[in-house]
Amino acid sequence: MAQLSPRMVALGTARSEIREAFAFAQTRAAEVGPEKVDDFSIGNPSVPAPAQVQELVSQLIRETDPVQLHGYTPAQGDAAVRQALADDLNARFGMDYDKDCFYLTAGAAGALSCALTAMGCPGDEFIAFAPYFPEYKVFAETAGGKLVAVPARIEDFQPEMEALAAAVTPRTKAVIINTPNNPTGVVYSRDTLRALGKVLTEKSREFSHPIYLISDEPYREIAYTGEPLPWVPDYYPETLVCYSYSKSLSLPGQRIGYVLVPRSVEDFGQVYAAVCGAGRALGYVCAPSLFQFVVARCSGLTADLSVYRANRDLLLDSLREMGFTCAQPDGAFYLFPRPPEADDSAFCERAKKYDLILVSGDSFGCPGHVRISYCVPTEQIRRSLPKFRALAEEYGLGHGS
Ligand code: PLP
Repeated sequence: MAQLSPRMVALGTARSEIREAFAFAQTRAAEVGPEKVDDFSIGNPSVPAPAQVQELVSQLIRETDPVQLHGYTPAQGDAAVRQALADDLNARFGMDYDKDCFYLTAGAAGALSCALTAMGCPGDEFIAFAPYFPEYKVFAETAGGKLVAVPARIEDFQPEMEALAAAVTPRTKAVIINTPNNPTGVVYSRDTLRALGKVLTEKSREFSHPIYLISDEPYREIAYTGEPLPWVPDYYPETLVCYSYSKSLSLPGQRIGYVLVPRSVEDFGQVYAAVCGAGRALGYVCAPSLFQFVVARCSGLTADLSVYRANRDLLLDSLREMGFTCAQPDGAFYLFPRPPEADDSAFCERAKKYDLILVSGDSFGCPGHVRISYCVPTEQIRRSLPKFRALAEEYGLGHGS
């Protein structure tokens, strides 16, 4: 047998708990009926893409020269599309971006891969706050570096600045943040971002090179704080934004997103070139062309996200009433409660007895918690509550409604 990359073989065969839980839920649904299985494992949006997206797709197919519509675009994305994205952010956040700050990608995963590969040198360290999206580790290692996990504060999952400052070394290339957060649902406060910018400015000065901030923002529009979320680059000039339309427009299968490199980034031209180089090295060629043209015309548009808020309110209130502890989740579509036993995998196994499918916090680098992905029909939440209650009672938690 030919010698293969051991790391790639390992990645291709490694068990992903989220996928495994999802597969288990599907098997159980086939055995006992889908209405008996409450699958909270995966972050696949449950609301359809807006009707306007369907109409735009039809219109583009009807009215655009197919050679152009389905052809290659420039590697960084169609110029008019990139300008439309710049105009959108400029109008919303008062910035002055232009088309040459954007590199279109296959979703946030593509954006993160490009950003990390662009800057990764052997031995580099990328810091993420635990719990974190598990693929960060894969992307950091593919970029030749390693992921350094710094625990966030357990009570509210805001990053701790002292812990961050202690973790930064001369090898630190970037810090990755994700707000609203997967898996906690927590939104970083302005104070947090201010403090983060201060630490990174001081550490960049101390080590005489910029430490980048990579802001992973697939949930930017899914927030329940009632006020506009802070725009991360406002708090630190060395910020690269990785965005995706997977969640806000419910288009995860269409693979569309971008890296934004603001001109405030030191050596902007080199950094942007490195992002383009990373896309080339990773073989992305260009982002899917049809959906480049679609998202360019979707300024201000989201799927109907109201169901996520209704789900959050119902599930959070109910779980707290049952006695579960949960940090305030003000965005995305995840809860990250602390189960009554420290062994989160054992708790997930017990939940499975009720056909209640959860994912252990361990998968996100934060044991002692479980992730509940509530991008599901509200009816599923309602139906699952007696199961959560029975589970709580097994542990003798408070008796809720
Ligand atoms: N980052 C976070 C925090 C995510 O939760 C996800 C997907 O769930 C991604 C990145 C990747 O998203 P995309 O589908 O846009 O590649």
